[in-house]
Amino acid sequence: MIPEGFREFIAQSLGEDAAGRLIEGLGQEPPVSVRANPAKISEAELREHFGDLAGDAVEWSEDAFYLRERPSFTLDPLFHAGAYYVQEASSMYVGHLLRGLIAGGPAGCRILDLCAAPGGKSTDTASLLGANDLLVSNEVIGSRASILAENMAKWGLPGTVVTNSDPVAFASLKDFFDIVLVDAPCSGEGMFRKDERAAAEWSPETVNLCAARQRRILADVWPALREGGHIIYSTCTFNRFEDEENAAWIATELGAELIGQRHFLPGRDRGEGFYCALLRKAGDKPHSHAPSLSAKRLPSPADDLLEEGFRPLVKGTLIKAIPDALSGAIQLLESKLRVIRSGVAVAQLKGRDLIPEADLALSTAYRRDSFPEVELDRATALKFLAREPFVLEGMPKGFFLLTYKNLPLGFVKNLGNRCNNLLPASRRIRMDISK
Ligand code: SAM
Repeated sequence: MIPEGFREFIAQSLGEDAAGRLIEGLGQEPPVSVRANPAKISEAELREHFGDLAGDAVEWSEDAFYLRERPSFTLDPLFHAGAYYVQEASSMYVGHLLRGLIAGGPAGCRILDLCAAPGGKSTDTASLLGANDLLVSNEVIGSRASILAENMAKWGLPGTVVTNSDPVAFASLKDFFDIVLVDAPCSGEGMFRKDERAAAEWSPETVNLCAARQRRILADVWPALREGGHIIYSTCTFNRFEDEENAAWIATELGAELIGQRHFLPGRDRGEGFYCALLRKAGDKPHSHAPSLSAKRLPSPADDLLEEGFRPLVKGTLIKAIPDALSGAIQLLESKLRVIRSGVAVAQLKGRDLIPEADLALSTAYRRDSFPEVELDRATALKFLAREPFVLEGMPKGFFLLTYKNLPLGFVKNLGNRCNNLLPASRRIRMDISK
């Protein structure tokens, strides 16, 4: 559904021809695309997994391709293993820009994704991080922040932190970040064909309100970006008020150089509507210092479960692990922001027993030979993911890592005649798995 007056309104920003093509494009089916998690599966392996459904590569991504049809992702165990993310193609352009910035910059890059839920761009960004790089993924709305935290846990890469803070809270982290991504809440013009509510709620007044809110968000976070650092500003709209005029406002009012900007238009580009600008903050300064923690590491009963380079922390009965190189920066973030996930939840200490955490199975920090493994067929993998009962025939009692196509899904404690499922109830598949 195209809102009344939209065609005339958008023609003022894009011109008559482009507006006409856009309206036509908004009447077509949106393409479906998936992006592989290179830490878990290669693009070629993921193509093989999707078989005949796999189509053309997404031009501006190294790991993504279109699907000829939309399958049920919920009923695919590899989706739950964090092997891929279902992300619309245009928005992968942010990953393309970041790849260039991170590759050209020094090690120890700190990136903030300020409006990050549900996590499309954050998972893409996490895949680009080097060993000493840090990504902070923030979402101000609590319920959306929980979904973001779950998606980041599934993606399984260390070096990521999830926060649930208002943008203004970042102002106290002066000069902390080298790159800030603001994928701003917007009037949602690019969502008209996916989301009827976006069309119903659109009006020129909404556009004005959104443009003003975007400026507030940008001004709030601006001090946290170091001088000479980069900002990527994006929306899923087409109008110049939220897009070009706001990019120009960042340049003139906040002080930055506009390096480039691009629209993705349905009808012209194979993806959803999207706008993206890259700017460089005036000046040049290294990012601010973060305290370094003592090099002394206390041994922990969970050390054997982890790859090298992690610092175990005991919080009550929970043992978690954070990458050594980031421990000082993470401590600083915890003192300033509402951190809801940092490092990897490794295990719960119950008396002398260590109960492995669900997130450990999905993390690349997990040392694969720590628990015995059982490879599941699809039907049993779905039973595990739906928390339905099943038995591990002929297996001894104790903890097992369950895998599907050799990728970890989670842990169970085998009791012989049944299994204790360690997947959190909040993550269980809620649909009919018999299909
Ligand atoms: N970057 C996400 C991704 O790739 O999956 C999509 C982000 S969506 C375009 C914008 C996000 O901004 C939403 O998650 C929304 O909850 C959040 N948001 C809403 N109001 C906000 C505000 N005042 N400040 C910061 N973020 C806000």
